[in-house]
Amino acid sequence: EVRVRFGPSPTGFLHLGGLRTALYNYIFAKKYGGSFILRLEDTDQSRVVPGAAESIEEMLEWAGIPPDESPRRGGPVGPYMQSQRLDLYSRTAQQLVESNHAYYCFCSSQRLELLKKEALRTGQTPRYDNRCSHLRAEQVQEKLAQGVPHVIRFCLEEGAEPFQDLVFGLNHHEVAQVEGDPVIMKADGFPTYHLANVVDDHYMRISHVLRGSEWLISTSKHLLMYRALGWQPPTFGHLPLLMNKDGSKLSKRQGDIFIQSFQTDGVLPEALLDITTHCGSGFNTTRVGRRIDELISEFNPSKITTHSAMLDLEKLPEVNRIHLKHRIEDEDQCRVLIKDLQEQIKQAYPAEIQDEEVLHEDYIRRMLQFRKGHISSLKELLSPTYSYMWVRPSFSNQQVAALTTEAQHIASLVLKLVAEGGEELATDQLSKDLKTVAKQTKATKYREVMKLLRLALSGLQQGPSVAEMMVCLGPAEINHRFQKLVQ
Ligand code: GLU
Repeated sequence: EVRVRFGPSPTGFLHLGGLRTALYNYIFAKKYGGSFILRLEDTDQSRVVPGAAESIEEMLEWAGIPPDESPRRGGPVGPYMQSQRLDLYSRTAQQLVESNHAYYCFCSSQRLELLKKEALRTGQTPRYDNRCSHLRAEQVQEKLAQGVPHVIRFCLEEGAEPFQDLVFGLNHHEVAQVEGDPVIMKADGFPTYHLANVVDDHYMRISHVLRGSEWLISTSKHLLMYRALGWQPPTFGHLPLLMNKDGSKLSKRQGDIFIQSFQTDGVLPEALLDITTHCGSGFNTTRVGRRIDELISEFNPSKITTHSAMLDLEKLPEVNRIHLKHRIEDEDQCRVLIKDLQEQIKQAYPAEIQDEEVLHEDYIRRMLQFRKGHISSLKELLSPTYSYMWVRPSFSNQQVAALTTEAQHIASLVLKLVAEGGEELATDQLSKDLKTVAKQTKATKYREVMKLLRLALSGLQQGPSVAEMMVCLGPAEINHRFQKLVQ
């Protein structure tokens, strides 16, 4: 049974790097009919950010990659929050102590600090000297009885075995030769990441660990723990780093890589998933416009490469445009967009919206259909360019009275044209017809005619082409806007 997990620390909000790790896990689970588990790794209590845990889960839901088991949903191997599993870690640490795979360490922070300084002074990499591993049993009992503060360290054995990583292939780190024995239980009774992740992956029956490549070198250490505990380890696959297009670290330059800020900016979740996989590897194609079901079917773990994936966020508007078009073309999703837009229009033009007709579902649908493939977010429809869609120009009686007979004549010619055009107007035909109208009017030049029409239709001095606006507004709305002028 395939079971994978995403194990973020709630020390911050979900960002693109995290979303991508979650996404690969989700896709892997769905591809092989397995389960995707969210586990919150909050063992460093001092760094926990309030609200981050809830927000991470919400963002996964929003992105359309909800976990099957999680703190909120629960599941058969919970709790899914490490701070609620402390018993399990301390029992396991005890087990390791009893089997001589771990030991109590009473070294003070001053001593550890001195060790570090000394190493740096002599140009060596600091490492714990494993002094407490030599304590005799009576010494340990005595210190424990005296209540001396302590941690528990895992004994790194020589002879770490090579392992086959799904992405990086055969890997081997002789950890005992380069590291001191690592802490597995801290003085505050919380486990460190290394112990917690081994214990949880075991008890949560995780079959595959897909995580960032920064954990690759720790894996040998984890495998030594599996061996000491007599547990079968999962299969590991380390995902290449995600970077900016220019090779800089993702979080460094792009301030706004938090998922919530994309959501606020009107980025569609499917566009975000699409772009994070487009740059990365592991798919049969790199075309954009793929939705989650297509990502799942195109996923091919053997195609995940070891080199960093470059994220090109400049492509995001383009990718969003494609996905917005898909949504507009889907009846159910379009209805949701319409509702959303209705609210946005009311907010954007609280004073100007005099007419409920522009808020009508059918009318808004027309506007969306007309602009799909051109706009890359709904918000764009609220920019001045498109204000003509929602706000009817209002002319005073004096302005109307001041219109020349020539202008009135033009307006009536156009109205006639529209009446003859039927329900659906076409831009090309209309452009031709407008030229003909302009020819029929002697005194006014073509450009002047267009200016006049644009003003009558939209109240705008400048803006989109008149034919385009007319096609978009449709005969009923054109009539409405012109009637007043030809009275
Ligand atoms: N809590 C770790 C992190 O935030 C998880 C690493 C892992 O998946 O094992 O990166």
